[in-house]
Amino acid sequence: MHYLTTERKLSILDRLTARLTYAVRLFSAEIGKSGQIPRTRRDVRRYSRVVREKTGLSSGFIQQAEDKALWMWRSYDELHREWRKMLYRAKQGTRWHGKLLKREPSKPCSSIHSKLKKTPTRFDVRTGEVQIASLALTGCVVHISTLKKGETMDVLLNPSEWHEKMLEKAEKIRSFEIVSNNGRYFVHVLCEYRVPSPPPRGVAGVDLGLKRPLSAVLVDEGFHFTTLQSGKEEHLRPLNDRVSHLRRIEKWSVLKKLRHKRRNVAEQYDRMLAKAFAGVSKGYYAFIGHPRYIRYHKFRGNGDRVGRRMLQGWSFLRQAGYIIHEKAKLGDEVEMVNEWWTSSRCWRCGAGVERPVQSRIICETGHQYDADFNGCMNILRRGISRLGDKTPASLCALNGAGARVDRALNGG
Ligand SMILES: [Zn+2]
Repeated sequence: MHYLTTERKLSILDRLTARLTYAVRLFSAEIGKSGQIPRTRRDVRRYSRVVREKTGLSSGFIQQAEDKALWMWRSYDELHREWRKMLYRAKQGTRWHGKLLKREPSKPCSSIHSKLKKTPTRFDVRTGEVQIASLALTGCVVHISTLKKGETMDVLLNPSEWHEKMLEKAEKIRSFEIVSNNGRYFVHVLCEYRVPSPPPRGVAGVDLGLKRPLSAVLVDEGFHFTTLQSGKEEHLRPLNDRVSHLRRIEKWSVLKKLRHKRRNVAEQYDRMLAKAFAGVSKGYYAFIGHPRYIRYHKFRGNGDRVGRRMLQGWSFLRQAGYIIHEKAKLGDEVEMVNEWWTSSRCWRCGAGVERPVQSRIICETGHQYDADFNGCMNILRRGISRLGDKTPASLCALNGAGARVDRALNGG
């Protein structure tokens, strides 16, 4: 948001965002009282009258709050279901079971953290619009309804050159959120882009790891196994050393300045790795192995100190997110598949494996592979077998690749 936004406009925004947050909380409280997870809009809408009476918001804003509350409860439900599944599998009385009990996902709007913050809601055609303007101050404004009926307001934005370019390229501006952070307002815009997406020419299994940041097997007419290095660790090491040195000598003010630097550097390298992979795998449908529960299992006191230390600096989701984004820009699709057992079984025969050295596996029937290659192939097979029950026509190239994997499996 532009720094020249007037006090009057800011106070209108303050009141609007506070009222919307209140509405979301009221919806959430009503849903919580009913004890039923809303499945559709209709399930939330039955509380709309109560919320409208209490907040005095117009129907556009009420719908906005409905959408947010619905989304929050749905994602809570998903998390909770996952958690229950894990709890069911865990043996009672073990440490792991105890850990899980403490980690029950909390209901929307119930934690102290969420009570202190405003909940952003999504503005769309009903309540606001991002407009490209040619004003002296800015090239971009958001036009929004206010709490007063029939009264609207223009808020100037402060887009960077990059933002302006992205807005121009967008096929459609879908919606935006007004997010307040440390007393300042930001507008997050959701744009829709269109890129041509030809049928994939092959499939890729991707394993993201600690030692080798990215390994992938690409299957089309043949097999290619590639590993990509990001160089992140080498670049972060001096920075990490410096941070721990400064900690020892208690130079807090310098440390404060360095706080974001580490993250920025790490993010930059993650993005570069994602770009490199997207380039290599252009045209390939990719499956990324998702180590969903790895952090849960590496809890404190499980005896694996080194493993846990290494995990701490590992940002799987960020890396995966960047890859999905970079590939989407090229028109390629990516799917996450569960990574359980992909590194402890042989991809050819499914037997258990041993690791005489870190980088190689030998299975019980004598197959020998590079450990990461084996992981990638398992991810690939799992991904393809899951596609089997969907099989849209555009993905027939994938079935071809799947057949090639099977041939390699049986033939040699
Ligand atoms: Zn084997």
